[in-house]
Amino acid sequence: MKKTGLLASMLAALCISTAPSAQSQELYWATSGFFGPFNIQGLIPTYPKAKDITIPVSMWILKHPKGVVVFDTGNNVAISDGADNCKKYWAAGSCDFLKPTQKRSDVIDQQLAKLGIKADDVKVVVTSHSHLDHTGNIALFPKAVHVFQKKELYQGYWPEKFQGRATNGTFVLNDLVSARDYDFYELDGDYDLFGDGSVKILSTPGHTIGHQSMKVKLKSGQTVIMSQDAIWMQENLDGYPAGLNFSIQAYTDSLNKLKRMRDLEGAKLFMAHDGDQFSKNGNKWHN
Ligand SMILES: [Zn+2]
Repeated sequence: MKKTGLLASMLAALCISTAPSAQSQELYWATSGFFGPFNIQGLIPTYPKAKDITIPVSMWILKHPKGVVVFDTGNNVAISDGADNCKKYWAAGSCDFLKPTQKRSDVIDQQLAKLGIKADDVKVVVTSHSHLDHTGNIALFPKAVHVFQKKELYQGYWPEKFQGRATNGTFVLNDLVSARDYDFYELDGDYDLFGDGSVKILSTPGHTIGHQSMKVKLKSGQTVIMSQDAIWMQENLDGYPAGLNFSIQAYTDSLNKLKRMRDLEGAKLFMAHDGDQFSKNGNKWHN
C-alpha cells in the first residue's frame, strides 16, 4: 500500500514535470503609437454618423516555454517622432490621413526591451498581413522565423491595383524587401505553431488576400483570439463592414469564424484597432 502510494506520487511528480506546456504562457498587448484622430467613416464608410476616433496599432508579445513570439511589428521605425520623418518613408497621403504618433520608444524592439527581451531572442515573428502598420519592422528580427501566409507575401510584393500598388501605398514594399533574405515559413491555412494546441494561427482572409489571426491559450486556461485586421474594432462587430477589403465575402466569413470561436470557446476577442478595448487591456500582461 505504502509502496503504491510512493509510486503514485512519483508518477504524479513526473507527470507534472513533463506535462504539456500548453497553458504556461503570457501575452503582452503593446501599441506602435496611435493613429488619429480622424473620422471613423474614413475607415468604415458604412458607419452612419461621423465621429473622430484615435486607434492603437496593436502588436503582441507572447512568452511561451518554447520561445518568445511576436505577432505583428507595427509601423516602420523610420516614421517615428513626427510628420517630417513619416513623409520620408510613407506616402504623404498615408501620413496625412492616419496621423501616426509613434515615438521611437513605441517601436517593437523598445517595447521588448522594456519587458527585458532582446529582439534577437525572439524565436518566431508572425505577421497578420503585409499592410504598413503590421509588417513595418520585420527587418528588426533577422534571427527569427517569419510566419506569413504565402499568398500574403505574393500580394505584398504585387498588390492588386484596387488595393493600392504604389510603392509607398498601404503596402510599403521596402518593409518586405528589407527582410527578403530572412527565414520565411510560408503557410497555406491554419497552423498549430508549437504542435501542442497552445498557439494557433488562423487563416482569416478578406481584409487582405492572406490575412491571418492568432489564438492562444494562457496560463490561466483562458483562450484569447487576436483578430488583428480581420476585425478592426467594435463597430465592425456591430455589423458595419470595414472598407479597404480584398474580398467582402471572405472578410465576412472570417469575421463570423472568429465570433463563433469566441462564443463556442468562451474566448476573449481582442481587435487590432479598437481604442476602448486597448485603453482597458493594453500595455499590460495577460495570463
Ligand atoms: Zn491595421
